[in-house]
Amino acid sequence: MEVALVTVGDELLAGETTNTNAAWLGSRLTDRGVDIERIVTVPDQVGEIARVVNEARAEYDAVIVTGGLGPTHDDVTMAGVAAAVGVELEASEAARRWIAEETDYEPADLAPGTTELPAGARLLRNPEGVAPGCAIETVYVLPGPPSEMQATFAAIEAEFDGQSRYVETVETTEPESALLDRVAELRSRFDVGVGSYPGETVRIRIECPDPDRAVEAATWLRERVTIPENADEGEDQR
Ligand code: ATP
Ligand code: MG
Repeated sequence: MEVALVTVGDELLAGETTNTNAAWLGSRLTDRGVDIERIVTVPDQVGEIARVVNEARAEYDAVIVTGGLGPTHDDVTMAGVAAAVGVELEASEAARRWIAEETDYEPADLAPGTTELPAGARLLRNPEGVAPGCAIETVYVLPGPPSEMQATFAAIEAEFDGQSRYVETVETTEPESALLDRVAELRSRFDVGVGSYPGETVRIRIECPDPDRAVEAATWLRERVTIPENADEGEDQR
């Protein structure tokens, strides 16, 4: 399953807020075997949100949008998503009932925008706040505050699945440029995904759905590269 994340907010672009939602969702979904293919940050502008969400939903199996749900003037995400999907925003009876029955707020005390969702959207209850999320077609909209985003995501997490993959890491003191032939052979011989991450040493990350093949590939490579002294055998599963 291929997913794009769209994080909305001028404060993210300005560097005032660190985009922890993207990192959290990226790691959580990757753990489930989902491929995150794009993370895009857009300003609080209806047109920009609509354009990016529309492109992403054409390209990927699902799009998760976070931020900009409240009823204040700068919160325009629901309008952007509605435009992307080609529907109007409308007062949601499900959202009104949820606020009346399950939160400490009275719908009448809230700005009207709080309960407006794209027409036809499914309500996603926000267990930590008052701005609900929603799902429409393959687009999932979650609140921006990290605790609210995470609590709302819990209800839809099961809708995201993929093949679990096993990861083995091989560390070497050789420079990346010297490793190209062995990395190419590793790929073709074992049919594994290979990533290479230079730092003080080079970390080669081997990923595949079959744990035995991941271990075999890592063993093959360790026998053919210069390993740092006292190297640990990196191994984890995700
Ligand atoms: P609210 O109803 O509280 O306004 P919201 O869904 O409208 O929620 P925003 O207004 O976009 O969310 O952001 C609310 C708070 O969450 C801000 O403090 C913002 O910095 C933070 N926030 C938003 N997006 C992210 C993100 N991607 N990573 C971390 N924090 C975020
Ligand atoms: Mg807001």
